[in-house]
Amino acid sequence: MTSPRDAGLKLIREHALIAGDVVTASKTIAVDDPATGETIGHVPDLGTLETERAIQAAHDAFGDWSTSDPHQRAAILRDWARLIDDNTEGLAALMSLENGKPFAEAKGEVTYANSFIKWFAGEAERLIGQTQDSPLGHVIVTFREAVGPCALITPWNFPAAMLTRKLGPAFAAGCTAVVKPASQTPFTAIALVELAYQAGVPTGALSVVTGDAATIGGVLTASPMIRKLSFTGSTPVGRKLAEQCAPTLKRLSMELGGAAPLIVFADADLDLAVAETIKGKFRNSGQTCVCPNRVYVEASVAEAYAEKLAAKVAELKVGNAFDDDVKVGPLIEDKAVDKVEAHLKALKGDGAKVLTGGDRHERGGRFFQPTVTLGGDDALLRREETFGPLVPVFAFDSEAEVLEKANDSDFGLASFVFTRDLDRAMRVARALENGIVGVNAGMVSTAVAPFGGVKQSGYGREGSTLGIDEYVDVKAVTLNLS
Ligand code: ADP
Repeated sequence: MTSPRDAGLKLIREHALIAGDVVTASKTIAVDDPATGETIGHVPDLGTLETERAIQAAHDAFGDWSTSDPHQRAAILRDWARLIDDNTEGLAALMSLENGKPFAEAKGEVTYANSFIKWFAGEAERLIGQTQDSPLGHVIVTFREAVGPCALITPWNFPAAMLTRKLGPAFAAGCTAVVKPASQTPFTAIALVELAYQAGVPTGALSVVTGDAATIGGVLTASPMIRKLSFTGSTPVGRKLAEQCAPTLKRLSMELGGAAPLIVFADADLDLAVAETIKGKFRNSGQTCVCPNRVYVEASVAEAYAEKLAAKVAELKVGNAFDDDVKVGPLIEDKAVDKVEAHLKALKGDGAKVLTGGDRHERGGRFFQPTVTLGGDDALLRREETFGPLVPVFAFDSEAEVLEKANDSDFGLASFVFTRDLDRAMRVARALENGIVGVNAGMVSTAVAPFGGVKQSGYGREGSTLGIDEYVDVKAVTLNLS
């Protein structure tokens, strides 16, 4: 029987896909397995010419695709979803190989990723406009029309879901797309695009271009044919891309970094808070933009919470994605490990106690021990996301104090609050300066919930009934009827 790892290796396609054509190059970029550092394959290092070709194809395909029957687009999206369901194991294995995430978690990501396609297939059927009487005596009719060819730039932490969360609504609305996946995880994107063609997405409507991010990003953002950019990644890169899009005034969706606070009040169910903290923090080995980055616990229960948490975290099995029962994999690259180490060092320097973990993992390479600390200074964690398996716990004394700390950050993506007091839960949720708040819940991402941030975490919402609006322009037609 083929092992999942081998099934994943078989799905590797070492080429880009431009308007349905297989594109290779003599210059390539190596993709490695973060668990071993071994190269699993190469993708072509493409540049200006190929990106321009993909843009032209998206431009040429836009007319027919944007005016196609939305029910037909919904049917194609559903066919694509069925193909993804049929290939869950292989796609998950591919993600485990290039990202390092535990195989069980990768299968969960395929389901999650596919939920966006299924959801937006329904949204394609609900591109509903409005009619309105005008004070001028006219009737106003609005149409929701596709924005145009889109550039979609995605990160490595959710190689499938960050792509489908953009492509689902883009196709539902009638937009065409050029995809630039992260260089660390291009194979999942290539496999998904291949399945999209099989499902009937017109080849010109979808291309995936691999290569140097700054070059491809530069061409995509400069092109007047690209009418929208949706980006998920770091705040500095998002800011730069927004600048590059300014001359052509593109529509923008920016899903950027976070430094999520998680607050536990003394009246909370501590076992629930611990379990949900682990769910939120250790998904993808701590490499998600909604991961709790700093945990604040009311002083009277801080030690009790931290000890319970440390005991559970110590049980998390670290290992290769395909080993049994693994909960925490390697980090994506060496510098990610350096960052966790630097954050831990700073915390210890400020007097934090290490309750479990506290070092690189004995497996070596990019593995780090799941770590819990108590005490120290939270200032660095307000400014920078650790993006690794470190949970720093800090004690607080009052609601006002913890709200000030939670909000004293340039970021504003996710936050979490644990309490049994409904009034407090709502008061705190309303006062938190974030786009997303989990109350007694550490997992907040689903296709039906609006996802997005405020402040330097960006703007725009993905998923939910709002997600499609990012890909739609409203046209108002005024009818002077006699
Ligand atoms: P991360 O910290 O998640 O790697 P990045 O913002 O560096 O975040 O990367 C997210 C995505 O943005 C990736 O696809 C990456 O290749 C791409 N990217 C990075 N730099 C640029 C750039 N200058 N222009 C366009 N895309 C970029």
